[in-house]
Amino acid sequence: MQGYILNIVKVKEEDLIVTLLTQKKLKTLYRFYGARHANIHLGYKIDFEAHLSQKSTIGMLRNVLHLSVPWILDIEKFYLWQQFIKLLYRHLRDIEDVDQFYFDLLDEISLRFAKQNPKRCLVESYIKLLLHEGRLHSDLTCFICESEIRDDLILTRGFLPAHKRCLFGQIVNKTKIETLFTQGSTLFLEDAEVDYLWSIIEEGL
Ligand SMILES: [Zn+2]
Repeated sequence: MQGYILNIVKVKEEDLIVTLLTQKKLKTLYRFYGARHANIHLGYKIDFEAHLSQKSTIGMLRNVLHLSVPWILDIEKFYLWQQFIKLLYRHLRDIEDVDQFYFDLLDEISLRFAKQNPKRCLVESYIKLLLHEGRLHSDLTCFICESEIRDDLILTRGFLPAHKRCLFGQIVNKTKIETLFTQGSTLFLEDAEVDYLWSIIEEGL
């Protein structure tokens, strides 16, 4: 079975409780420390086996094989990847049966990271996530007063749009946000604008 490591908690010296996102489930498994075991880190994609025993309520994580990526040694990319993984864990942590969309999204991001600017990739992927969850406000109606936004706007957590008269915050260009929301592309955004959008994502998915 394959999964992405979404969370790791250290218990009893070197043992770990590991939460994995597989295609259909969020699995929490116990990993005994073993000097010859491969190191695992947050965000790794692994091949593994889950062993259930009658003695324990939690399954054992065994036969772990790290499925590495070409950008693993790129510190900036790996850092951003882990930030996104942490956000995704907070977003999915209370669900057991997970839509395959999230596993596939991580597969896609992982592939695109090899070639694309990582923040642009994450902003575009977040648009896909919002669209999938039916939370993308592509009509650009203000979430506070519920009327149409005609000029520049403010975006808040969850990329909720608001009038600049309705909410305090950094003003963003309406045409560019419209393009992002309808075409899912950051092509027309400056790097500073992408940085700003990423900082909104960091507040929570
Ligand atoms: Zn408004």
